[in-house]
Amino acid sequence: MFQPALRTLAILGLLAYTSFAHRDEEVITRDIAIIGGGASGTFSAVRLRDQGKSVILIEKESILGGHTNTYQDPVTKVPVDYGVEVFHAQQIVKDYLDRLNVSWVVAPNFGVGSIYLDGQTAQPINYTSPDLPVARWQELLQPFGDFLAKHPDINNASLTIFRFGQGLGDFLVQPTLYVFKNFGLEIVQALSTGFLAVTSQNNYEIYDHATKLLGSDVLLSSTVISTLHREDNGVTLVVQTPSGRRIVKAKKLLIAIPQKLENLRAFDLDHHEAGLFGQFKNTGYWTSLVTNTGLPAGFNTISVGADTPYNLPNVPLVYAVVPTAIDGIFDIKYGSQSSLPDDHVRREILSYVKKLQDNGFAEKVEPEFVRFNSHTPFELTVSPEKIRGGFYKQLYGLQGYRGTWYTGAAFHTQDSSLLWNFTESHVLPGLLK
Ligand SMILES: Cc1cc2nc3c(=O)[nH]c(=O)nc-3n(C[C@H](O)[C@H](O)[C@H](O)COP(=O)(O)OP(=O)(O)OC[C@H]3O[C@@H](n4cnc5c(N)ncnc54)[C@H](O)[C@@H]3O)c2cc1C
Repeated sequence: MFQPALRTLAILGLLAYTSFAHRDEEVITRDIAIIGGGASGTFSAVRLRDQGKSVILIEKESILGGHTNTYQDPVTKVPVDYGVEVFHAQQIVKDYLDRLNVSWVVAPNFGVGSIYLDGQTAQPINYTSPDLPVARWQELLQPFGDFLAKHPDINNASLTIFRFGQGLGDFLVQPTLYVFKNFGLEIVQALSTGFLAVTSQNNYEIYDHATKLLGSDVLLSSTVISTLHREDNGVTLVVQTPSGRRIVKAKKLLIAIPQKLENLRAFDLDHHEAGLFGQFKNTGYWTSLVTNTGLPAGFNTISVGADTPYNLPNVPLVYAVVPTAIDGIFDIKYGSQSSLPDDHVRREILSYVKKLQDNGFAEKVEPEFVRFNSHTPFELTVSPEKIRGGFYKQLYGLQGYRGTWYTGAAFHTQDSSLLWNFTESHVLPGLLK
């Protein structure tokens, strides 16, 4: 008896708010509202506009680009990409960069010349990187450790695969499927034919040009705070922007942010949607640039395990310490099997640099962060049982449900080029109808 009364009050409140909002708050009307201006959302905005659709792109940060981290030396202006580095030399990537007037080259292989140090102690270990054998892409639901045990022919490649699987958390425990999605045929081929890179070595150029191209179709530093309506006949969102609240009305919604439940609370999920997104677990991944390390110029190390299966290091850990194009600044990445507090990760990175100093690789000075970025939640995964039980079939079944489409790494893989392919061929057609 009490509940219907409450519902009536809520509906009256919503109607009052809606009419108030429509009166006092600027209404932005578009064909498609896109949430998240990373690799997938920005690409979608540019491609949909080019095909005659009006869009609004809503990004919580003050710049577009998602996992792209570029630092520019304030004096020399030398750029360093310490997030996304390279792309596949595919036509869709070339066309997209050409559209944004960003110059590209097919670059030689990167990351050569590293030494191998123990991931925990920073002590040297006797390990030589072997040649890549041809792998067998099967039995994809096993933990990757079991897959390696069954396939000694690819054991030799495990550290190379691990390097490309940074951010995947506990590598030997993850279902093999996720490992090979991150290290697929395109990567194997690009290792011999070369990756595509932005000529200026400044990947932020892509997002800078996209921001200018999209103009007032981008709301930066903005988030959806509630959903007034989201059904097949359209969506109405309340968006907090730096200049106040806006009402966004669109025929369709594209969600291109990591689809973790806590990130989707403002979108009025129903039981079915919440039940699916609530199943995702996530790994942790952080990037940083560190100066005053005491390390010699050109010092370059990859973490391995001294006494671990296949010499794979245990997570959490510092993945690598790599020199950058800026003298004295090193690129240091860190990964864990789940979210960790940023302060803890900062301390762990500095403590690893101290270990390098204690082990005689560096002079004893006080290292300092030039940049530190969290990319957590990174890889979104579900268990093999859930995959076997049809999780992804149900997830893909959400495309178009309640006027909403989805793209991004959780729907495909952590690879910008492959996400642009996936978005172009599997997501945009539904939005263009
Ligand atoms: C360190 C690192 C290195 C990488 N190197 C490469 C590489 O060399 N080549 C490659 O192809 N790929 C690389 N990747 C992977 C690549 O970055 C991802 O595959 C790609 O960025 C995923 O795109 P996305 O659109 O799913 O997510 P993202 O690019 O993360 O975009 C999501 C966007 O949504 C925004 N957002 C989140 N929540 C909200 C919210 N509530 N409201 C509004 N906006 C929100 C975020 O700020 C972000 O801009 C790398 C990733 C990392 C972390």
